[in-house]
Amino acid sequence: MRRTLFHDDHDDFRVAVRKFVDRELRPQQERFIQQRSIDRSAWLAAGKQGLLGLLVPEKHGGSGAEDDYRFSAVWSEELARLSVAFASSFTIHSEVVAPYLVELTTPEQRERWLPRFCAGELVAAIGMTEPSAGSDLAGLRTTAVRNGSDWVLDGSKTFITNGFGADLVVVAARTSPEKRARGITLFVVEAGMPGFERGRKLDKVGQHEADTAELFFDGMRVPAENVIGEVDRGFVHMMERLPQERIGAAVTNIAHAAQILSETIEYAKERRAFGQAIGSFQYNKFRLAELVTSVEVTQAFVDRCVAAHVGGELTAVDAAKAKWWSAQVQNEVLDACVQLHGGYGYMNEYRVARAWQDARVTKIWAGSNEIMKELIGRDLGL
Ligand SMILES: Cc1cc2nc3c(=O)[nH]c(=O)nc-3n(C[C@H](O)[C@H](O)[C@H](O)COP(=O)(O)OP(=O)(O)OC[C@H]3O[C@@H](n4cnc5c(N)ncnc54)[C@H](O)[C@@H]3O)c2cc1C
Repeated sequence: MRRTLFHDDHDDFRVAVRKFVDRELRPQQERFIQQRSIDRSAWLAAGKQGLLGLLVPEKHGGSGAEDDYRFSAVWSEELARLSVAFASSFTIHSEVVAPYLVELTTPEQRERWLPRFCAGELVAAIGMTEPSAGSDLAGLRTTAVRNGSDWVLDGSKTFITNGFGADLVVVAARTSPEKRARGITLFVVEAGMPGFERGRKLDKVGQHEADTAELFFDGMRVPAENVIGEVDRGFVHMMERLPQERIGAAVTNIAHAAQILSETIEYAKERRAFGQAIGSFQYNKFRLAELVTSVEVTQAFVDRCVAAHVGGELTAVDAAKAKWWSAQVQNEVLDACVQLHGGYGYMNEYRVARAWQDARVTKIWAGSNEIMKELIGRDLGL
């Protein structure tokens, strides 16, 4: 089905992003998987092409596309067509962290971080989740206590995408112990601050290109100039930015499913059993027909949400619907794609096997499917 979301300038941009992916990421993907991280040279190449500053105004070194989220959607889709890990690593930086650094910062902070952020010289991560607080973010336990002109942070974060290599991490910490959600503040933690340590790269089921790590803060002094947003309003700052993170996740989920499904359809035309193409068995033909329908219907809803976001009208509830539903469809599609590949679908050298492993987490991260349904249910007055 023809999509109506994009215009000529988005299509031109897509061609440029596709070239970047084919030049800088695809040939090196296997090495990135083996080393469990993306080379800094790839980040710098993305920065040079203006792909890391899509949501940053030009005066701060960005690409000045911040008023049209469709460019971000194109960037996410083209990364997801190669792998979800590339999409998550790069877009945590360019789409998730960027709004914090643009909207919650002082002119001095913007000047200090954004030009190098856009260039790929500062790779960014965001640390919300802790070993004992994921879905229940308001229960986080990392503390920040004021001490002279500094804050002293103690605690830890886990599952942090880009955490191992990041130069700059937006960290949520408790500044008012008795206030739960109303006692959290955001800090920019920079590599090299005494008391800041990283654990090993975590051994994930999939998405091996992405480095994911634990972070530890032990009496770490953070200058007051590294507080972003208002003290004790960090939870609100995060909640306000989650709908964009979730629609971004939905864009990635469905682009990934659509790509692997189209590769599987080709496979089903070529692979033969009992003297015919396996896709021509009625069961498989109908199964593929169902999956294509499911992807296209989901795509239509996700596109509508992106258009609403461009118009400043995306609700948190619609973003939650798009996120959980697209993750569900993506996982159903990929499971069926593995099935259609038979034994080859279980071999890591086949893209479909890796894609299936990569996709599993999309029902868990950035607000699990259950938490998304909780938000939707609450909106129903339940
Ligand atoms: C690969 C990966 C990358 C990640 N990257 C980042 C990152 O960059 N930054 C970051 O801050 N975090 C990151 N996360 C963390 C992720 O967002 C959390 O794992 C997620 O929010 C779930 O939290 P949890 O793991 O503590 O699970 P829990 O909160 O312990 O949930 C366990 C189960 O209980 C369910 N549950 C919890 N509460 C309810 C409820 N009220 N009703 C019904 N069911 C409920 C959940 O849905 C889940 O099924 C990442 C995680 C992974 C795996």
